[in-house]
Amino acid sequence: MQTVTLNNGVTMPILGFGVYQIPAEDTERAVSEALAAGYRLLDTAAAYGNEEAVGRAIKSSGVPREELFVTTKLWVQDAPAEDNTKRAFEASLNKLGLDYLDLYLMHQPFGDVYGQWRAMEAENRAGRAKAIGVANFYPDRLLDLIINNEITPQVNQIETHPFFQRAEYQHLMREHDVQIQSWGGFAEGRNDLFSNPLLSGIGKEYGKSVAQVVLRWLTQRGVVAIPKSVNPRRMAENFDVFDFELTDEQMSRIATLETGSSLFFDHHDPEIVAGLAKRRLEA
Ligand code: NAP
Repeated sequence: MQTVTLNNGVTMPILGFGVYQIPAEDTERAVSEALAAGYRLLDTAAAYGNEEAVGRAIKSSGVPREELFVTTKLWVQDAPAEDNTKRAFEASLNKLGLDYLDLYLMHQPFGDVYGQWRAMEAENRAGRAKAIGVANFYPDRLLDLIINNEITPQVNQIETHPFFQRAEYQHLMREHDVQIQSWGGFAEGRNDLFSNPLLSGIGKEYGKSVAQVVLRWLTQRGVVAIPKSVNPRRMAENFDVFDFELTDEQMSRIATLETGSSLFFDHHDPEIVAGLAKRRLEA
């Protein structure tokens, strides 16, 4: 598996498996199948409600801990967030049955962001979170966090797919040594992604599916991808993207699919900010 090296030297697989919207009762099976298919990066979150099931699958897989790269995410915490964040971190570790995380992400740029980050920095220094990062941070929030804290986030996990490509933002993140990770790499199928004529035309040239073209395009750009599937055939398909290479001309054609905006939600939209702020999880 190809890897990327984060700004603190930690290596991370460039392709992994996401478990958002997999019901808790299906997650153990799905993760077990993903591990059997070869995935080693697992991406969950406290907010997904399936950390325990991920933990059971890890335990029964027999895959050595050091071969895995496990990510979970901290949900929005009110100020003062230090103690709450520490408790939320412990709760996630316990649910996953682990004694350290490979990557701990702040799920949203809301709540007591500074308090959350300070507590995450402490877990990083203690070696219990090998890498720390953020998700859904737009450039203004990311730069503010970098400038005003000691540790620069290792990763920013953001919506990134053929209709919202984040090319300019990736460039900025590269300047600050923050690794871009895509969520919703298939845009969850929105905009008829899986039957997009341009993507399927390119796929036909290699005997590859639209999903494989998208994952190849992401990883070829140096973007870490974490496709979700509950279907073992698709898990295997999504893992089989390293035996072909898109040409510069094909990469340029895919660039024309950019729409310039989110297909999900804009974190600058006051309604979204208020909605996410109201949602609280029990730590
Ligand atoms: P996604 O990976 O873009 O799309 C998943 C959808 O694509 C599912 O409906 C899946 O259906 C389908 N699919 C998967 N492989 C396919 C294939 N080869 N052919 C056709 N359809 C296929 O969506 P996502 O789950 O939202 O994003 C990926 C991961 O990113 C999440 O699981 C989560 O870990 C993370 N995420 C993070 C955030 C955040 O705020 N940080 C937000 C969203 C997601 P089947 O399952 O039926 O195959």
